[in-house]
Amino acid sequence: MKVVELSGGVGGARLARGLARLDHVELTVVVNVGDDDEVHGLHVSPDLDTVVYTLAGVEGQQGWGRAADTFEVNSEMERFGVDTTFQLGDRDLALNIYRTNRLRAGDPLSTVTDDVTSAFGVSANVIPSTDDRLATEIRVAEDGWISFQEYFVIRSHRDRVEEVRYAGAADSAPAPGVIDAIEDADLVVIGPSNPPLSIWPILAISQISKTVSQHPNVAAISPLVRSKALKGPADRVMASLGLSTGNRGVVEAYDGLIKKLLIHDSDGDSTEAIDGVELISAETLITQPLAAEALAQRLVDL
Ligand code: GDP
Ligand code: CA
Repeated sequence: MKVVELSGGVGGARLARGLARLDHVELTVVVNVGDDDEVHGLHVSPDLDTVVYTLAGVEGQQGWGRAADTFEVNSEMERFGVDTTFQLGDRDLALNIYRTNRLRAGDPLSTVTDDVTSAFGVSANVIPSTDDRLATEIRVAEDGWISFQEYFVIRSHRDRVEEVRYAGAADSAPAPGVIDAIEDADLVVIGPSNPPLSIWPILAISQISKTVSQHPNVAAISPLVRSKALKGPADRVMASLGLSTGNRGVVEAYDGLIKKLLIHDSDGDSTEAIDGVELISAETLITQPLAAEALAQRLVDL
């Protein structure tokens, strides 16, 4: 069975790990690059790295970065008065240095990602949504438009998000293999990622949203439990952008794209469908690989 997942970082990576554990699933993960930025002159791709690290089982405790990483370089940078709020561990730095050099030599991000994935012994196909420059930007009340990492890491996603845009999306083409994978998939699943900040930047590439909208079997996993994000600002951002509270807001975020939404057991009593989208209650807490595998199995059995 061929499965394509659209993924941001931590939430999406956890589902990917579950899907990758199923023997009969051939998995392609299409990953958000709207968070990519330059840090200390290096090209960082936080969501791609989270997905690869999680699939390899070497992710950090919070779900991002590397397990048991050290921060020697980061602390030495402080000596020079460099702002080190965006923390890069030493192991994590190695990947970022490698990627940056490959990109400078002219290799596309998708080729580099493929080589990184192999180097970690990951067999799933991990593809950035695009090889072009697409940057999520956030409009906050006081200061206008700021970069995604300024909002998310430097300012700890405290600001109210007034508006979101995906700079460069109109000129971004899907990376090689993305459209074919979606067209050939038996199932397309939108991972339990932040809808406006992780999934919309993927769907902002018009050829991707068009191909997903034409697919007959698209499901999503809700990132919300009791109307709250398990981590990060998804519920707050959804509200400030005018989406309804709870899983209705998730359905609205994926308007016309999904047929099924898997929601947490505790949210499943009241309704069976929202705007024609079937709600399926399941154990959607998937921090543990076995729980992720069980949810993935549930998904492919639908
Ligand atoms: P980011 O790029 O690292 O912010 O990651 P994503 O956008 O992929 O994921 C963030 C979302 O993941 C948050 O809204 C969380 O609610 C959700 N999330 C994290 N862990 C879990 C989980 O175990 N189950 C579900 N359903 N959602 C999760
Ligand atoms: Ca992210």
